[in-house]
Amino acid sequence: MDTKAFKRSLHHSDKYYRKGFGREKEITELLRSEYHSTLIRQIQENGYKLQWGEVTIRLAQAFGFCWGVERSVAMAYETRQQFPDKRIWITNEIIHNPLVNQNLRNMQVEFIPLKYGLKDFSVVAAGDIVILPAFGASIQEMQLLNDKSCIIIDTTCPWVSKVWNTVEKHKKVDYTSIIHGKYDHEETIATSSFADKYLILRNLAEAEYVCSYILNNGDRNEFLTKFYNACSIGFNPDTDLERVGIANQTTMLKSETEEIGKLFERAMMKKYGPNTLNHHFLSFNTICDATQERQDAMFELLEEKLDLVVVVGGFNSSNTTHLLEIASNKGIPAYHIDSSERIQPDNQIQHKPLHQDLALTENWLPSGAIVVGITAGASTPNRVVADVIEKIFEIKNKSTQLQTHCHD
Ligand code: SF4
Repeated sequence: MDTKAFKRSLHHSDKYYRKGFGREKEITELLRSEYHSTLIRQIQENGYKLQWGEVTIRLAQAFGFCWGVERSVAMAYETRQQFPDKRIWITNEIIHNPLVNQNLRNMQVEFIPLKYGLKDFSVVAAGDIVILPAFGASIQEMQLLNDKSCIIIDTTCPWVSKVWNTVEKHKKVDYTSIIHGKYDHEETIATSSFADKYLILRNLAEAEYVCSYILNNGDRNEFLTKFYNACSIGFNPDTDLERVGIANQTTMLKSETEEIGKLFERAMMKKYGPNTLNHHFLSFNTICDATQERQDAMFELLEEKLDLVVVVGGFNSSNTTHLLEIASNKGIPAYHIDSSERIQPDNQIQHKPLHQDLALTENWLPSGAIVVGITAGASTPNRVVADVIEKIFEIKNKSTQLQTHCHD
């Protein structure tokens, strides 16, 4: 399929929108009232710190809603206002945040249901409006919606589109796209749909495996079994790894994407020599600024003397998980929660440790004076972060009051 030609024709269709509807002012007000927080503003104005009683909060200098997410949410709100009587669907959670997604449901913006684990587009009728979320949609979904004569509101973040363009460039010169991402993540599914030949690598260990295959050959069957879900149909590791280009899911750990790029660059240089490297390896910088800023701010925050870190964001949010990974690697107790409701009044917290199921930790806030580092993924509104901070203040102050009472 000529994905480029299809996209070009879609962009010229009168049923396709990728800009707002000129209602920015009223939407900005609405979003401010629903998602912003005075407490967070005060903390920011106070040098990203706040001390109250025994708790000192240190907020990361970059956290929460990124530009692409704000834009996507604003476009979804605008769409509802622009088409008050239309049925509106979203192909996926617009972003990975339960509050935002619930608010959209409350506005009668519906999510495409799943049937046997697959999206059931039979619910969508001609003339319905379908919103594509910030991390995009696959070319097959766009085609299907176009064939059904739906009105498409495309809120795909331009950073994600940039990766798609990179993959198109690989395709044009017949390179295999090596995508650093998770093969079952919506963004990576969309990105791979633009590629001709692709291989999705989750981490450095998988990249090392592939580079070793390039340099030393290996067990072809083992390779194909290992990447069964993560490569294009008919992928042949013996011929499809001769020319590779690097692409990424925009929310992966930046340092890891860079290392993977270097690993492939070195492998290709070793195999084909430095003079022909350009014929075998392509790399463009497609790491999104917001992801990078949040990760850098996390490293900076960890320079402080912290007792623990709370990372706020959806459990299926990739960029939030990477923030947790950074804190965990540093050996600081770190708790990933998706809302303040995970914090119980009796000093318990239900959280998601790295690569594990939900866990319950008791007495997670130590007694005495504590310094708590706080950050949030790119799809978390300030209001949710503020609720978390308030809960921590509440628990610590209550325990202080209790202790004082006992001493009396
Ligand atoms: S994290 Fe980056 S790529 Fe994703 S929506 Fe935000 S700005 Fe766009």
